[in-house]
Amino acid sequence: MNNNAKDKIDIRSLGLEALQEHFIRMGEKSFRAKQIYEWLWKKSCFSFNEMSNISKELRTKLDENFVINNVKINSSQVSADKTIKNSFILHDTHLIEGVLIPTPGRMTACVSSQVGCSLTCKFCATGYMERKRNLNPDEIYDQVVLIDKQARENYGIPLSNIVYMGMGEPLLNYANMMKSVERITAEDGLNMSPKRITVSTAGIAKMIKKLGDDQVKFNLALSLHAANDEKRNTIMPINEQNSLKALAEALKYYYAKTKNPVTYEYIIFDGVNDGIQDAMELAKFCKHLPCKVNIIEYNPIAFASYINAGEDKVEAFAAYLQKQGINVHLRRSRGKDIDAACGQLAIKEKAKVSEV
Ligand code: SF4
Repeated sequence: MNNNAKDKIDIRSLGLEALQEHFIRMGEKSFRAKQIYEWLWKKSCFSFNEMSNISKELRTKLDENFVINNVKINSSQVSADKTIKNSFILHDTHLIEGVLIPTPGRMTACVSSQVGCSLTCKFCATGYMERKRNLNPDEIYDQVVLIDKQARENYGIPLSNIVYMGMGEPLLNYANMMKSVERITAEDGLNMSPKRITVSTAGIAKMIKKLGDDQVKFNLALSLHAANDEKRNTIMPINEQNSLKALAEALKYYYAKTKNPVTYEYIIFDGVNDGIQDAMELAKFCKHLPCKVNIIEYNPIAFASYINAGEDKVEAFAAYLQKQGINVHLRRSRGKDIDAACGQLAIKEKAKVSEV
């Protein structure tokens, strides 16, 4: 018997075959493993006790040998625009954030991929936190499950879209990000279409190529924010090792392999990247492959001196791009009053252990 929690196996770290092997070693039939797998993923069950078609004896055995390290809601805040920001607590007491963004015709979950971030984008609150660790696939999956439940309970509508734009750089947690997408899209998982998923990167050229090699079906977004190396180096230091030339080359490779157009995210900072020269550089960068541009409103954070560009400048910028035949969308920020908007996620509270 194996009663020490730290010696127990994290059951969701096992694939179906590995679980079946464990069951055979425990003297159980392998079809039982399939039943448990379904409870764990398709039914998102967080307790062996709730697995109602499993005998009491087997449930006890499972409890003695395995653990379900599920994510829990630590606290939630609702914005005036109905955006809900969640602080989630992990089994090792680390906190992360995930957001439910209700917009007309869409229920979007914005999920985190790491605890903190190792990159240091100057406009982003997470960039000022230390990266503690990568999230496991099930920890990304659980955020989707919990936010979906929240969407149904609060607004009567299930999730329609998932964006990997919360805390962390998903491409620096590549294997776990991919595994989470596999579980979210699998028939014996959440069975969501990959077309409803967008993974956003600060721009890691080598990993963008890998997405191409893996012929992913989900959408890719690049946080661009400047199409000029000198400017981008100051806004996003990761550009020093992943220049615009390297990114363009990687994106062309990705497009050749997947035929998926790419979205460029562009926050317009007042006096930094808001001029017509900047728009011209962006238009030139857009010529590399089929793409669209999302212009995003900036949400000032305490650590950074950037401010949002005025409406007139944003509109002139967008109009210039449109004239060049570029598909442009202006995105208003959501959840600003509760620090849930793009670039604002950073843990400001302690775990509420009593609620766990
Ligand atoms: S924008 Fe993304 S990659 Fe950059 S610091 Fe923030 S969380 Fe990390």
